[in-house]
Amino acid sequence: MAVCEILSVGTEILLGDILNTNSRYLSVELAKIGISVLRHTTVGDNAERLAAALETALGRSDIVIATGGLGPTADDITRDVCCEVMGFELTLDENIAAGIRSYFESRGIAMPENNLRQAYVPVGGTVFENKNGTAPGLGLKKNGKCVVILPGPPYEMAPMYHECVVPYLAEYSDGIIVSHTVRTMGIGESAMAEEVSDLLEGENPSVAPYAKKGEALLRVTAKAKTEGEAQALLAPVIEEIKKRLGSYVYGIDSESIEQRVVELLKKYKLTLATAESCTAGYIPKRITDIPGASEVFEYGAITYSNDVKEKVLGVKHETLLAHGAVSEETAREMAAGIRRVSGADIGISVTGIAGPGSDGTNKPVGLCFIALDAADEQICEKIETGKNNREYNRYVNSSRALNLVRRYIEKKEG
Ligand code: ATP
Ligand code: MG
Repeated sequence: MAVCEILSVGTEILLGDILNTNSRYLSVELAKIGISVLRHTTVGDNAERLAAALETALGRSDIVIATGGLGPTADDITRDVCCEVMGFELTLDENIAAGIRSYFESRGIAMPENNLRQAYVPVGGTVFENKNGTAPGLGLKKNGKCVVILPGPPYEMAPMYHECVVPYLAEYSDGIIVSHTVRTMGIGESAMAEEVSDLLEGENPSVAPYAKKGEALLRVTAKAKTEGEAQALLAPVIEEIKKRLGSYVYGIDSESIEQRVVELLKKYKLTLATAESCTAGYIPKRITDIPGASEVFEYGAITYSNDVKEKVLGVKHETLLAHGAVSEETAREMAAGIRRVSGADIGISVTGIAGPGSDGTNKPVGLCFIALDAADEQICEKIETGKNNREYNRYVNSSRALNLVRRYIEKKEG
């Protein structure tokens, strides 16, 4: 398998002014065409250090993809340095020069002369057209090594990668890699892994568990000659995982829990209302992020104080006195209250301790109760995240409340 290294050029990356999203993007995309990225290197806009980094990279990798420093200004040195190290001469390409001139003319601005630096191309190299900017990308192949130079701005780099670099690297790609992610909620990562332990031994497809903010995920990856063959290898394994993990599975790939909930509410023409304490608006925010949420979302109340829990939701004074705000009893009355007040089909509530401080009782930070109230059922779930992280607790509790809605509707679905 061809080994690739990504060489990011830019002092602004080293200073932490910008996040190196190009490396991340290229790693994800290169894996899909069967090219392993084994190293990410970053250097500043300095010719000596860039040359040294490129020489080192070429000593251990078949392919080096450099991004950034391809523009017109004096600190844009990637083109010159890479060609020098690879032993390619640069020459002015009249067509590219004319293209750059007309790029400026069409925008009605005078072209600074240094822009013509971008029209120098390596003799014997490959030029990748830049449809979203002025600096073309370059490809250099010599003695079994390959250097690809791409512009720094992601909106120039990404389309150029797909249109020009993927075909340019075809000879290094040994097949296609396709992944799907099975997303679960309500089960821990290790419990989930245990359910599918035999599948984790598989090599093609390979199955790998990981955790992400209150979710447990399984990434299933297959390698094959074509995308179709890879999908055919993946399908039965994903089916088996879904069978074993049952209702813990809420989606595949980028589908979010809020998306799934809105989809289900729409499908069964059900409406939702929320009463939140510690999550204070998280759930309506996430629901209304989904286009078309107005069909299914009725009302979101933030009932932070006990007084408002009583006045707006009708939570009984005695309940709050006897059990406190963070209790199963209060959560149930909040859910019933919001359903009554809003007239929605489903009411959900959240009451918990997000941290960092406790609520003055001996209840632990990270404790939360979520309840669902509907005409035919009332459910309450206790969550203990065990984490003293306010942001994490609020996010995870809102996810779990959404998950409660999903499980309620899916159960009725049968
Ligand atoms: P330009 O012609 O705009 O100067 P360039 O190819 O010379 O492009 P740089 O000057 O290195 O690229 O970077 C220009 C901008 O592109 C940066 O300010 C930054 O916004 C973005 N950029 C550069 N490198 C990266 C990277 N590795 N990840 C994400 N963004 C980047
Ligand atoms: Mg630049």
